[in-house]
Amino acid sequence: MSLDHPRIVLLYQSLLGIYGDHGNAVVCQKRLQWRGLDAELLMIEPGEPVPTDADLYLLGGGEDTAQITAVRQLKADGGLFTALDRGAVLFAVCAGYQICGSSFTIGAHDEIIEGLGLLDVQTRRGPQRAVGEVLHHWTKPDGTESLVTGFENHGGWTTLGTDATALADVEIGWGNGDRTTEGAIQGNVIGTYPHGPILARNPELADFLLERSLGTTLEPLDKPEIEQLRERRIRSARAGKP
Ligand code: GLN
Repeated sequence: MSLDHPRIVLLYQSLLGIYGDHGNAVVCQKRLQWRGLDAELLMIEPGEPVPTDADLYLLGGGEDTAQITAVRQLKADGGLFTALDRGAVLFAVCAGYQICGSSFTIGAHDEIIEGLGLLDVQTRRGPQRAVGEVLHHWTKPDGTESLVTGFENHGGWTTLGTDATALADVEIGWGNGDRTTEGAIQGNVIGTYPHGPILARNPELADFLLERSLGTTLEPLDKPEIEQLRERRIRSARAGKP
């Protein structure tokens, strides 16, 4: 972990890149650069070795079949596991979140696929697809609450085991599928359903990940345009508008 040269790794965009979640990595790099830090963003594709010495790793959303390939490749490479053992942080969205669990299902016959085993969650096809704007209540480590805005689009519903803690409570949307809890956190692995990209809409969540991965407190940033975007999305979610 280095404040001189923080390193962010965006994993497997060709497989898990169809929902624009690469924006999360760009947001993380930018928020560090705005604070004068020389942050590097590495884009790693299947077949390329996953660096083991970065601070923050990101996975995005994607199609069911791509999830199987991503799991196989990440297991075969092993670098992500090494990085997490050394204390790096992993932030995973939707399909990325699902593959972090112990298992998930794929296809018309609901084939059960073993996940990466990084989160004590399992995902099964739900009775309907969860699609739409969401609003969640996230309790930050300091005990205060922050609203999380985003949108969800997933057929898999996720159940948490005892080792995982829900990331947030649902006000609008399906969340993990029960309309009550959203996402999961276990150690330094954080999974969540919303796209957006979620870190563009929710700078406090971005800074939480950055502070956790760098092991330091970052000075606040004053970006009124981000707050305006956020407030618009929160208002329209509550008004039921897309
Ligand atoms: N394929 C997964 C599902 O439908 C994830 C979709 C996504 O990443 N948005 O549940």
